Amino acid sequence: MADDILHPETLALHGGHRFDPQTGAVAVPIYQTTSYQFRDTEHAANLFALKELGNIYTRIMNPTTDVLEKRLAAMEGGAAGLGTASGQSAATLCILNLCQAGDNFVSSTDLYGGTWNLFANTLTAMGIECRFVDPTDPENFRRATDARTRCFFAETLPNPKLNVFPIREVADIGRGLDLPLIVDNTAAPVICRPLEHGAAVVMYSTTKYIGGHGTSIGGMIVDGGNFDWEACGHRFPTLNQPDPSYHGAVWTEAVKPLGPIAFAIRARVTLLRDVGAAMSPFNAFMFLQGLETLPLRMRAHCANAAAVAAFLAGHPKVGRVIFPGLQGGEMRRRADAYLDGGYGALMGFELKDGMEAGKRFIDALKLFYHVANIGDARSLAIHPATTTHSQLSENERKATGVSDGYVRLSIGIEHPDDLLADLAQALDAA
Ligand code: PLP
Repeated sequence: MADDILHPETLALHGGHRFDPQTGAVAVPIYQTTSYQFRDTEHAANLFALKELGNIYTRIMNPTTDVLEKRLAAMEGGAAGLGTASGQSAATLCILNLCQAGDNFVSSTDLYGGTWNLFANTLTAMGIECRFVDPTDPENFRRATDARTRCFFAETLPNPKLNVFPIREVADIGRGLDLPLIVDNTAAPVICRPLEHGAAVVMYSTTKYIGGHGTSIGGMIVDGGNFDWEACGHRFPTLNQPDPSYHGAVWTEAVKPLGPIAFAIRARVTLLRDVGAAMSPFNAFMFLQGLETLPLRMRAHCANAAAVAAFLAGHPKVGRVIFPGLQGGEMRRRADAYLDGGYGALMGFELKDGMEAGKRFIDALKLFYHVANIGDARSLAIHPATTTHSQLSENERKATGVSDGYVRLSIGIEHPDDLLADLAQALDAA
């Protein structure tokens, strides 16, 4: 059956691969190879000239990673995927694919700290300016745009505030200005499909829910195939002007026989080639294992998180619970508009007794792991004021939404009664 008529749950198991043509193996084999034998010189020349798509060298593509790319792209409703070494490299390649020195892009301020650093420091030092805007008002994206703006960037469900991003509103503003919206959907796979809401590119840290078991670092870019880079040519010289690094190829022209995948192809054959942030085939195999149960796990994550949020909201030592399912007003409207099947599994809560209570709570946990990660099958907790956000000044930290007693939870798929019991005894000790 064609991939485009199957549901994400089915695609997670069948997308992009039926069996290995050489051996009949049903599980996707790990092609742990650097290079590939060319049939003859014409074959080799065709591959290098992109007249034929095929394996040359694993830094650029690999058959195991290829199945993961096809599978995730199909699940998102996109045109092509590109595996990367990490979520950080996926974000880096997304921006470098459109921006050159002197250009700028507009990003939501609500970002994972690593991405914020990449945008505020590393890319800035390369001459690419990130204009941070508050996503509470989507019009802020328009206000920050000028002739050198190349894209908008945001996360679907950014912690610690967990305000769902107004994807459709900002994507529409972008499309009116000939600009694509790139969405980091790491915290909301399956429950949010950003391409359906107008995003042009989706990216993931596959390290989190997609891998799901806390074993491997990786990233993925999905080219939605729904943005006309050629019609908006004035915005995108990297895709519409001859590329000196590839015999003067014009990417929007060169990919025409292959489909609407100019963004993914350029990122692969120039940026992965040059930067080298490729996913390892072994990690691609691990992510394929994770992907098979991702829809099931997301349902369990979301159900457990809803139970934990309700428990915390009624606890006398808890001042406030930060969870999309407990919000009201515009933020709740956004959560209901963009999340389907649950409100995710990240949450925060504030202990009334502040910093010391936060430390005591974390030290008393028996089941929850105390780690700087999210999206594991196991439940995880961290006290940001003494860890991830401890380098910020008190005012900066509070502006990000991290108060002294703030605790972040990433709810796993254990039995909910066991999670509530662990939280109850840790709250007693807090
Ligand atoms: N995006 C989000 C939302 C994240 O939470 C993270 C990591 O925590 C990243 C990107 C970076 O991913 P990685 O750690 O795989 O580089």
